[in-house]
Amino acid sequence: MPDFPTTLTAIKAILAKYKLAPLKSLGQNFLFDHNTLEKIVNAGSVTDEDLVLEIGPGLGALTWRLAEKARHVVAVEYDRGLYGILQDLFVDVPNVTLLNADFLQVDPARLLQPWEERVLQFKVIANLPYYITTPLIFKLVESGVPWTTMVFLVQKEVADRICAGPGGKEYGTLSVMLNYYGKAEQIGNVSKNVFYPAPQVNSAIVRITPDWQRFDPEVYACLQRVVQAAFGQRRKTLLNAFGVLAEDFGGKESLADFLESVGIDPKRRGETLTVTEFLTVAEGLRSRKQRDTR
Ligand code: SAM
Repeated sequence: MPDFPTTLTAIKAILAKYKLAPLKSLGQNFLFDHNTLEKIVNAGSVTDEDLVLEIGPGLGALTWRLAEKARHVVAVEYDRGLYGILQDLFVDVPNVTLLNADFLQVDPARLLQPWEERVLQFKVIANLPYYITTPLIFKLVESGVPWTTMVFLVQKEVADRICAGPGGKEYGTLSVMLNYYGKAEQIGNVSKNVFYPAPQVNSAIVRITPDWQRFDPEVYACLQRVVQAAFGQRRKTLLNAFGVLAEDFGGKESLADFLESVGIDPKRRGETLTVTEFLTVAEGLRSRKQRDTR
């Protein structure tokens, strides 16, 4: 077993050996705190029945810990230089598959297809590159992969947005969509001082547990339209912000009637609606669309 670089000294040494420096443009901040790594793995309750997808393995600190517990780890790293290091480090670790690719260009369902019959659960666990956190999370949610757990290390501010409730400035598209998708919770805060190099901001571990009993891709698509309309124009009343949906409801007046019929005052602002209220509007939109296509 090679010496995995999980201390600050070891991280600096391996980068020097391969003549590489951390790339800010790829959000490279390497974690060297054992407790934090442990917390991330524990938050995913990883067992040998799991296939774990990791995005951005970097120098393999988290990958190695995941591989100790999971049936298999598939790790996608964009940086060719880091990928070269990972290939050397994991050459004798049979339950790790490495892929050199931009995850935004990968189809997760296709990537994991060979594992469908061989594992019980798909999990995604990652210290995400901060410059593309939101598109990465939505890509995973919309991938069609039946994740049982998602654990992410993200900027604290993003974690706050994911877990926010109605009324505050953090509450937005990310909060509503993810809280419909499943249960979102903050597991703990992580200081910027446990990364090399230290980022500008503190971080937090979040866990999202999808609710497959509730999730319906058609409702999700409608919810997306409703939420984008509401938060696209945060300061407007619902009736005005939902203007782009009025046609689907048969005009502005019918939209106002619908909102009132489900107990939502059209003069409210979108940011005051609970996830359940957003869902009521999305379901209303879906049933009208279904009626139109009959
Ligand atoms: N997992 C390592 C750790 O915890 O120390 C590194 C995490 S670092 C915050 C993010 C990693 O994501 C880097 O290794 C970076 O090269 C990689 N990365 C950045 N953009 C990516 C992309 N589009 N697809 C896959 N990996 C990416």
